[in-house]
Amino acid sequence: MGAIRRQITACSQAADVVQVNRSRRRGRPVLWELFVCTRHVWVANEWGSAHGRQPVEGAETACGLLLDHREPEEVFQSHGDMWLMSLTAATPEDHDGDWAATLHAAADMLHQPPTFGGRIAELLRQAASLAEQISGAGELEEQAVRRQVLSVLAVAETLATTSRQKSIEGRA
Ligand SMILES: [Zn+2]
Repeated sequence: MGAIRRQITACSQAADVVQVNRSRRRGRPVLWELFVCTRHVWVANEWGSAHGRQPVEGAETACGLLLDHREPEEVFQSHGDMWLMSLTAATPEDHDGDWAATLHAAADMLHQPPTFGGRIAELLRQAASLAEQISGAGELEEQAVRRQVLSVLAVAETLATTSRQKSIEGRA
């Protein structure tokens, strides 16, 4: 299956650098690639060290695009690590890795601030009810549902990181 696309800045610039993270496994397959413009290198700093950074070559790519090549379970964990847990303290570990339970708990914990938190909570509930279809689904269908959940989470992630970006950059 293709990469899972995430968008983690709200920026209209073309990316100048790409942060590439490779597995330590044999052949060092690429785990994810994060594209950022010069102004948003600070976002890349939260994801990895300057070591894995290189200039963007070839076709123009928008700042903030994250191409995630990992398995859905690892992408879900990444959502937790990179933004969800800092907003809600809900972790997959506390729910035996059950996506639906984790997302319901996260939506319940997310109250503030109401302007963007309300929309994120709504998306988390939507992702949670999708995730309820994971158990009982056949293997192929399960993978499709997991990818749907991850695409809803990607929208929530964009909102969460954009909101933080605005507060850090001091713009409304
Ligand atoms: Zn940018």
